[in-house]
Amino acid sequence: LIQIKGLTKSFGDSQVLKGVDINIPPGMIYGLVGRSGAGKSTLLRCINGLETYEEGNLLVEGVDVKSLSGKAARELRKEIGMIFQQFSLLTRLSVYENIALPLKCWKYSNSYIDNKVKELLEMIGIPDKIHAKPKELSGGQKQRVAIARALAMNPKILLCDEATSALDPKTAKSITSLLNQINQDLGITIVVVTHQMSVLRSVCEEIAILENGKLEVSGPVEEIFLKQPQALKNLIGQKDL
Ligand code: ATP
Ligand code: MG
Repeated sequence: LIQIKGLTKSFGDSQVLKGVDINIPPGMIYGLVGRSGAGKSTLLRCINGLETYEEGNLLVEGVDVKSLSGKAARELRKEIGMIFQQFSLLTRLSVYENIALPLKCWKYSNSYIDNKVKELLEMIGIPDKIHAKPKELSGGQKQRVAIARALAMNPKILLCDEATSALDPKTAKSITSLLNQINQDLGITIVVVTHQMSVLRSVCEEIAILENGKLEVSGPVEEIFLKQPQALKNLIGQKDL
C-alpha cells in the first residue's frame, strides 16, 4: 500500500532523510521509532504529500506522491487521515463541528454529515459528548475526537504522530485498543510514530527504526525485540524494555 524506496529529503543543507526504504502492506499496523530529530514526522508528512522530497519513490496505492499536484494531491489526502500528539482540535468548535469539518470542506450533504458524525461518535464511544467543546473533554476523549475527524473521509490510511505521548499509560492503552479496533473493523492501514515501547508491542506487527535519517533495522516487531534489543535500548534506555 505504501512503498518507499531510496527516499531523500533535505531542509536547506541538511539532509534529514537519507535513502529510506519501507514497504507497508495493506491492513498492517506499522510502527516507526527513532530518536528526536531522526526524521519520523518528516517521513509521515512526505507520505501524505505535505512535504516534497528530492530523490527516491514514494508510492501510495501504486501512485507516486511526488507526481501529484492540485486536485490529485487533495484526492490523495482524502485517503489519508492523520492525528497528532496535541490533538489539534479547533477549540471554538464543538465535537460535532470538529468531526464534520473535513466533510463540510468536501461539500457533503448535511444529512450525510449528520449520519457520519453520529456513526463515528458511536465508534469512538462518546456519543454523549456530541455538543461538548474540546476544553470540556479529557485528553483521551480529545484524541478520540481527533481520530473520528481523521476517519470522516473514510481514509485507507491513518498516520499517527506520537498520538499517545501526551496521555497517561492507561489512557494511552485505551487509545491503542481503539486503533486496533479500527484496523480490524475497517481494515485501515495504520502507521504509528511513537517512543513508547508498550505501544509498539501492543499494536504493531512490523516496525522500522530510523536513526539520523537512515533506516537502522526493520521487520516483525517481536523479531526486533528479540534479535535487536540493543537497537531499541539505544533509543529509549533499558528501563522501558
Ligand atoms: P521528534 O521525535 O522530536 O518529533 P522527528 O523524528 O519527528 O523528531 P522530524 O520532525 O522529522 O524529526 O525532524 C527531522 C529533522 O528535520 C530535524 O533535524 C528537524 O530540525 C528538521 N526539520 C523538520 N522540519 C523542518 C522544517 N520545516 N524546516 C527545517 N528543518 C526541519
Ligand atoms: Mg516528530
